[in-house]
Amino acid sequence: MNRHVANMEKGFLMSQAKMEDIISLCKRRGFIYQGSDVYGGLSGTWDYGPLGVQLKRNIMNLWWRMFVDERDDIYGVDAAILMNPKVWKASGHVDTFVDPLCEDTVNHRRYRTDHILKDNGIDADGLTMEQMDELIAEKGIKSPDGNPLSKSRTFNMMFKTSVGATESEDSVAYLRPETAQGIFTNFKNVVDSFYPDLPFGIAQQGKAFRNEIAPRDFVFRSREFEQMEIEYFVNPEKWQEAFDELLKSTHEFLEALGLDPKNIHELDVPPEDRAHYSKKTIDIEYDFPIGKEELMGIAYRTDFDLMNIQRVSGKSMEYTIKGTNEKFVPHVIEPSFGVERALMAVLSSAYREDEQNGSKRVYLALPEHLAPVKFAVSPLLKNKPELVEKAREIYANLSKKNPGRVMWDDNGNIGKRYRRQDEIGTPHCVVIDFQTLEDDTVTVRERDTTEQRRVKVEEL
Ligand code: ATP
Repeated sequence: MNRHVANMEKGFLMSQAKMEDIISLCKRRGFIYQGSDVYGGLSGTWDYGPLGVQLKRNIMNLWWRMFVDERDDIYGVDAAILMNPKVWKASGHVDTFVDPLCEDTVNHRRYRTDHILKDNGIDADGLTMEQMDELIAEKGIKSPDGNPLSKSRTFNMMFKTSVGATESEDSVAYLRPETAQGIFTNFKNVVDSFYPDLPFGIAQQGKAFRNEIAPRDFVFRSREFEQMEIEYFVNPEKWQEAFDELLKSTHEFLEALGLDPKNIHELDVPPEDRAHYSKKTIDIEYDFPIGKEELMGIAYRTDFDLMNIQRVSGKSMEYTIKGTNEKFVPHVIEPSFGVERALMAVLSSAYREDEQNGSKRVYLALPEHLAPVKFAVSPLLKNKPELVEKAREIYANLSKKNPGRVMWDDNGNIGKRYRRQDEIGTPHCVVIDFQTLEDDTVTVRERDTTEQRRVKVEEL
């Protein structure tokens, strides 16, 4: 084995270890559990525990603040998950939202053909299903269990359900596979209610569902997940400047998540790999512990979606420039973020191990504005009522200023409390001792440096 391969394997093993460590920390400390765990789980679903839900909300609220609240050109909506099936016919999802599926001919396990190729070192982007099958035959690629693979067929990723008391072709509905269509279908409503100047955007956050053939890599590829999407409507002549501005804002958001720019990569998707209607797509990839993978994407989708709605609904999607008779169907730039992938990037960038007083310490160096718990409050000794009373008073005051972000922690000795709080990323541990009773100062111990300072209570 040459040194390069050995190092690559070492790197791979280290990153695998890191992923497993993160998954185990998430479960142990109440961030993320396997969905329906008590019944043996349901593949591709995850439940957020008390700390995970807070971290996820902090990420989603930051996004909403930066893209909706702090801008006057982007409006928020919250559309229904169940939509008229015509939406998915018009958008092309019913016919083309498919992945290539192949099957182990012996044990009938199913795989995504492009993933089988990827796992064998072949990039399948831009290949047709027939080309993928030819490569599998040519290279003699077998299933992970060593058996021959069937030819591929397409598999539609939308979950089908039925609306109302009778099940028939007319009652079919789909769980939305993206939040974007809930925005496009409200384009006319927002224009009629607000008549915003172009360019303007509409944003939505919410659940999306995809029947992924092979969910994998923790929350990275789930069957139920959340998206944060914007459709930004523009005059077609001015698409490029809007694209550049949204790309810049995207990088600002990723920076606010605390992600190191050296782990963020822009992939200018070549024409043969883009959707046919897209004139430009940039995938933002991130160096996850599982490798460099798509974190989010930003695409110039032309007028494809609004024109489809106009064609199928028969309603005009034209926008009239104020004070003129100039009318056209706006073009659109779509930044599309996945919440789980953002969360996984945040966790893997924050995960650290170091040594303190001769033993290994695990901590999450989360940015303060994202950490689920901002302050942990403890009395130095829990059997001294005067310390407990003072600590409860400080805890109540801090909780009022930071609702939901302050934790009471009086279990075990102080050293153990610090380690527990480090592991969940709490930046500040506040300890109330006898001196507090005299001069109203507390010890604040900082997570990253482990330094302790004496601070006046009112300065917290
Ligand atoms: P991939 O190629 O990885 O399957 P995609 O290109 O199909 O992703 P989009 O349709 O562009 O993804 O969806 C926009 C974003 O939604 C992605 O960048 C990702 O962050 C998120 N996303 C998509 N599918 C999943 C999933 N199964 N689980 C978690 N997040 C997802």
